Amino acid sequence: MIEISGTMKALSSLHIGTGKKSGTFADTLEYVPGRTIRGMLGYYLYTNHRDLFEEMKISEDNDMSNTNAFFKNALPMSSSEAAGYKRTVASSSSLKWCKKCGHLIAEGTKACSNFVDGKPCLQEGKKVSGFITLDSLETGKLEKASVGTHISTKCPITRDGHTSPGSDFEISPYHVKSIVPGTVFEFRCLVEDSFVNKVKSALHEAGIFSGLGGYRSRGYGSVAFSDLKEKPVNDIIHERAKELSDKSNLMMVTNSSMILKDENNSVIGFDSTFKDYISKFCSLRGYKDDFNVLFHGQEAGSGLPRQIITRGVARGWSLKNGNRVSEIVRCIGPGSCLMVRGNPELLAALEIYGIGEMTNSGYGDVYFMEGQV
Ligand SMILES: [Zn+2]
Repeated sequence: MIEISGTMKALSSLHIGTGKKSGTFADTLEYVPGRTIRGMLGYYLYTNHRDLFEEMKISEDNDMSNTNAFFKNALPMSSSEAAGYKRTVASSSSLKWCKKCGHLIAEGTKACSNFVDGKPCLQEGKKVSGFITLDSLETGKLEKASVGTHISTKCPITRDGHTSPGSDFEISPYHVKSIVPGTVFEFRCLVEDSFVNKVKSALHEAGIFSGLGGYRSRGYGSVAFSDLKEKPVNDIIHERAKELSDKSNLMMVTNSSMILKDENNSVIGFDSTFKDYISKFCSLRGYKDDFNVLFHGQEAGSGLPRQIITRGVARGWSLKNGNRVSEIVRCIGPGSCLMVRGNPELLAALEIYGIGEMTNSGYGDVYFMEGQV
């Protein structure tokens, strides 16, 4: 497998539906789900390169061992003129940041220990939701991804005349929130080696001719891919494993929603079902199954691993049913954390492939960092 990574820039406004409409207002997500990118490329390939569509098994929804293409959520990048574009991740719910100066509050303390104008800051901290730069985790200074949005009011037009409805029609304007043109996202996908060049050129064309998200007939949804680089997945895993082996107190953070299922029920939280997914992953990808959850319950007697869970809702968009919502499931939300221990090569592989259901559509993305739940 090869990872293709680069940037995806909005050329026009982007509307990424949240699945919830309140009245005449349509809200937008501030990132582009992997399933939306998969849908864009899948639709393009289906209509233009049916052979590649079939070979890549891009429409697989159920069996993740039976697909050759994985699309990660495209998260907004933070940009400043001096520093360029920075990668962002979902903020961990175990971390608190100072309400006043934005410094990370040290573990086990309640007040900010940063010095402002020579005096200790001493403000309390709060959790942060949304996306923060990876640099924030290194420097301890909060840097959020800022996504510009705007709201446009539209009037329905009639299909035959492309004019506003006449006086005998009830006029019902609607309001569309969208991400502004120029916003840059990080793009990542994994594909089999032999598809790399075809996928790269298909992405360039699909971004312009198909586009993504809602209101495309109104000119929304054009994106441009740039700086597309490729790297063998095994090299990435090897390098990342070296970094992880130097860290102690490892914490897993969910970088997107994670869907875990026991029969047909969603499992919210990390328990034996989660471990079953890891075991299955190990046998599929050839890793030794030595992933151990640190059991806080060994002291507390509860038997539960140390974890913080946020809740989320995942929507499965089926390529087969005309891009309709196929199901809505409860899931583990982004920013959830779990204390873990395991073979660094396995942890690095989990970062690359994700955990759980529909990892080909951006669900179940995780990263590991030093931390404490
Ligand atoms: Zn402070």
